[in-house]
Amino acid sequence: MNIHASEARPLPALGPHTRRCRLCGALLRHSFVDLGISPPCESFLTADQLDGMEACFPLHPMTCEECFLVQLPEYVSPAEIFTEYAYFSSYSTSWVEHARRYCEAITKRLDLGPKSLVIELASNDGYLLQHFLPLGVPVLGIEPAANVARAAIEKGVPTLVEFFGVALARKLVEEGLQADLIAGNNVLAQVPDLNDFVGGMKIILKAEGVITLEFPHIERLIEENQFDTIYHEHFSYFSLTTIDIMAARHGLKIIDVEELPTHGGSLRVYLAHAESRRPASRAVAGLLAHEKRCGLNDMAIYLSFGERARQVKRDLLQFLIAVKNDGKKLCGYGAPGKGNTLLNYCAIGTDFLDFTVDRNPYKHGRFTPGMHIPIRDVGAIDEAKPDYILILPWNLKDEIVRQMRHVSSWGAKFIVPIPFAMVIDPTEYRS
Ligand SMILES: [Zn+2]
Repeated sequence: MNIHASEARPLPALGPHTRRCRLCGALLRHSFVDLGISPPCESFLTADQLDGMEACFPLHPMTCEECFLVQLPEYVSPAEIFTEYAYFSSYSTSWVEHARRYCEAITKRLDLGPKSLVIELASNDGYLLQHFLPLGVPVLGIEPAANVARAAIEKGVPTLVEFFGVALARKLVEEGLQADLIAGNNVLAQVPDLNDFVGGMKIILKAEGVITLEFPHIERLIEENQFDTIYHEHFSYFSLTTIDIMAARHGLKIIDVEELPTHGGSLRVYLAHAESRRPASRAVAGLLAHEKRCGLNDMAIYLSFGERARQVKRDLLQFLIAVKNDGKKLCGYGAPGKGNTLLNYCAIGTDFLDFTVDRNPYKHGRFTPGMHIPIRDVGAIDEAKPDYILILPWNLKDEIVRQMRHVSSWGAKFIVPIPFAMVIDPTEYRS
């Protein structure tokens, strides 16, 4: 089947019990995990918003029994989420380094040069495309959030403030732009109209061009109880099996796949036109077979996930309650989106954490959505000298423990909540 999004009829709006899969259109009948009701995880509050009403939505992803796409309905439109976005990718040093290595490797692999064009979808503050500039490779960023796009333009990265889809792709092709490389890092999950987005990539890709997509691998999410990586802004959760179905639907094929440690375990998938000369690497068949062995093309594994999340919640709360009953002082480290899923699902507020800290100055003086935990500068930890520090971006725990090793001078320890609650003593920790 080779259907362009533009040729497919839009699905009619349906009630909550008659929702259809955003990829294949099948009826959604199976709960993946019910994480209760919470506000959108990037809606950090200012002090004068604390007494107001907060919009909250169910956080209840379903699994499609036909294509195994785990998905949330579009409770909050991307226009609401992404026009003023609090997440500047450049605030994570390890993430910027990850991007630099990718740019150098892909430039060699695809033999990119001054006549090539690299387009990044959701290019954020230019954290990735900036690395192509010294290599002499022309770039174009497409980023719907005006404030982060501005930061990219100031770095010299040309950026369009737009949402990407078939309409924008057609417009750019009419203007004579087509890409040798399309990069989409952690954007696929945030696209409500998946078929329009992938259809757009198909249109703007040169005949022998390559698309690379990075996204958290649902195998790792399930395996390691990463229910906190589910939030309203992430509509879709993918296996390679599902990506294969998605690619085929749009006249694309998977030519390679790599497993990455980022975001708790991600895949980088390489796609080309179905008729491209580029062959598929052995890794593709290997990982598809591995997913089959793991049961990712069988509903049983998806149906058992909810109870695993509930177990993590009970264990973490049991630990935090014991520590508080012991009279200890706790704070958080980090205010990432995923932190808010964990905090709201487990109802961890200022009764447990006095405050949390973040390296992103945009968040300083603000409060976490739902639980209203104050966010301070990292230096607040040195002043307060807490006994325990709960690491909310647990995927960066090695970097954080390294940077914050000095907290051992007053005996502080770290708590990591996922895959299960554990304590890290920085004096004994070898990452
Ligand atoms: Zn489906």
